[in-house]
Amino acid sequence: MKVLVADDDLVSRIMLHSSVEALGHECLVAEDGDEAWRLHQDTGPDVVITDRMMPGVDGLELCRRIRARPAERYTYIILATSLTERYDVLMGMEAGADDYLAKPLDPFDLETRLIAALRVTSLHAELARFRCELGRLARTDALTQLRNRLNLGDDLASAHARSQRSGRGYCLVMCDVDSFKRYNDTYGHQAGDEVLRALGATLSAQARQGDSVYRYGGEEFLLLLPDEALSSAAAAGERIRSAIEDLAIVHSGSRVAGVVTISVGVAAFDPGEDTTSQAMLARADAALYEAKTAGRNRVQLATPVREPAI
Ligand code: GH3
Ligand code: MG
Ligand code: MG
Repeated sequence: MKVLVADDDLVSRIMLHSSVEALGHECLVAEDGDEAWRLHQDTGPDVVITDRMMPGVDGLELCRRIRARPAERYTYIILATSLTERYDVLMGMEAGADDYLAKPLDPFDLETRLIAALRVTSLHAELARFRCELGRLARTDALTQLRNRLNLGDDLASAHARSQRSGRGYCLVMCDVDSFKRYNDTYGHQAGDEVLRALGATLSAQARQGDSVYRYGGEEFLLLLPDEALSSAAAAGERIRSAIEDLAIVHSGSRVAGVVTISVGVAAFDPGEDTTSQAMLARADAALYEAKTAGRNRVQLATPVREPAI
């Protein structure tokens, strides 16, 4: 572990330093609380062993600052104190310390405290990994590994706000598999799942850098194209539609091409207009509905307010 020792007393510093290193840990040393706080911010130690009374930032203030700082890694804090300062120990624990060591230091006490510190910091690191992985899973569609609707809500709201600030439009491309119920009925649900996976991979491959692809619903996908005008988003929609048709996944029940196809609705946001991101979704959905009623396997553009400036 990386251990930071903060003590204004030279003898205590030397003793702690050599004991910590003798136990196989890396040791950083600070001569007062201000230096300890700086080192903590710069190096992110696993453990801080701090004296209570120091000039400037004292041990209690150091505990408070460390606990108030949003950090990815947990710092285990040990307050080093003489046994006559019981009240200070209590204050220290309330300020954020995890444990305390009595002065003069006993190397055996230090060894046992650092065993607990290692256990606690390892648990915290494991928790942070789980939290990160859970966050990723909550935002990923398990079948296609695309971003899911939860992600879309956040991304679309920020794209919409960014667009309003920058004056540059963005586009939504909404795709829906044609006659997919029949595909499931003919080839089975598992084969249907394979199709959705293949379509997700094709959409990702077709997306350009900066574009985001989402599984919007069961057999619906959505692309968010930032800084894009309706005309180029329409070209992207057509590219995607034809790439899916070119996969040539046989679909005998298809009413259009004998293979799996998608219908596409494209909507552009004009930063000059007063509308919401939710209304943009509805606009793309309405265009998709028109593509369906016009015969499927086609791209339909939502009527633009005016061609957005980019
Ligand atoms: P349309 O051309 O009008 O879009 O017809 P459709 O049959 O595709 O549309 P409908 O909404 O009637 O049916 C959608 C089908 O998509 C029904 C549903 O079982 C299927 N579906 C939705 N999610 C999944 C999934 O995760 N896996 C599979 N295999 N099928 C799914
Ligand atoms: Mg469909
Ligand atoms: Mg649908």
